[in-house]
Amino acid sequence: MIGIIDPDTVDATNLQRQVLYSSADEGRPKVEAARERLVALNPDIRVEAFQAEFDSSKAESLLREFDLVVDGSDNFKTRFLVNDAAYKMGIPLVFAAVDRFEGQVALFDGRTGPCYRCLYPEPPRAVIRNCQESGVLGTVVGSVGMLQAHLALQCLISGGDSLHPLSPVAGRLTLIDLAKGWNLSTVQIPKRPDCPTCSVPPQSIVLESHEESTSPACFMGQAAVTAHELATRLDRGGDVPILVDVRTDEEWEESHIPGAIHWELSRLEQGLVPPNLGRETLFVVYCRSGVRSARAVELFRKRGFKGVSNLKGGIESWRLQARSRV
Ligand SMILES: [Zn+2]
Repeated sequence: MIGIIDPDTVDATNLQRQVLYSSADEGRPKVEAARERLVALNPDIRVEAFQAEFDSSKAESLLREFDLVVDGSDNFKTRFLVNDAAYKMGIPLVFAAVDRFEGQVALFDGRTGPCYRCLYPEPPRAVIRNCQESGVLGTVVGSVGMLQAHLALQCLISGGDSLHPLSPVAGRLTLIDLAKGWNLSTVQIPKRPDCPTCSVPPQSIVLESHEESTSPACFMGQAAVTAHELATRLDRGGDVPILVDVRTDEEWEESHIPGAIHWELSRLEQGLVPPNLGRETLFVVYCRSGVRSARAVELFRKRGFKGVSNLKGGIESWRLQARSRV
């Protein structure tokens, strides 16, 4: 069975690159038009269409039905959610992305890593344009899509047998640059030992909802603050946030930011939260380098703490930029 999920309807501007549709489909739900076209190609296949956004509320129940995920989304929120959900469910993921004349394709194995978060730990803060906004040639999307489809077929045909002649290699990023003809290169993605997705037990992966990630009501209105921003705010004596150190007991004993409270990440993972924090309290979480605290921020958000921010670069960055405070 093939499942397709997408909330949109077909628009005339899609037609130069989205080859499942014709101008007669304009205004129809994309998933319906796609299902019809695929079944017309092969009446023996079963295609399920879901006209909806792929969000955290349905990610697990949807993925449970399938052996492989192919991510063709055009935004980072969905891309990170697909990655996290695939790892939570232990399903391989074929990722692809396009930006103007360049593309990226990779297969992630869904069990051992590396994963998409090893490549990009967090969604970028800057506004990144999607295909609609930046303009893209249909041939670039087609080329990248063909490589993505090929990886998906390899994965399904080999069925996880590493000795099969078509067995694909997971964890390698293929970069395609079509600005000056075909330019293809492949790099191995290093697995991050502190990756919040593929280096933790699958059951502790928290799927972040779109609402939580798009409207953080946190310190300075930011989901993450730099050590410089925090130091400047402390100097001015404005609405000073509480600092929460999520490192281990040993790291805390060695040194910590004065005034901080200590609450190890492992306690959060067990569902325990500091008793002196309210749902509306402004607080900034830190660890050594900002990775464990990013995970802590996800866990706090999941439990309804809207005022949480992450200290980018952790205490290491704090030491560099505000040395006198430690
Ligand atoms: Zn990872």
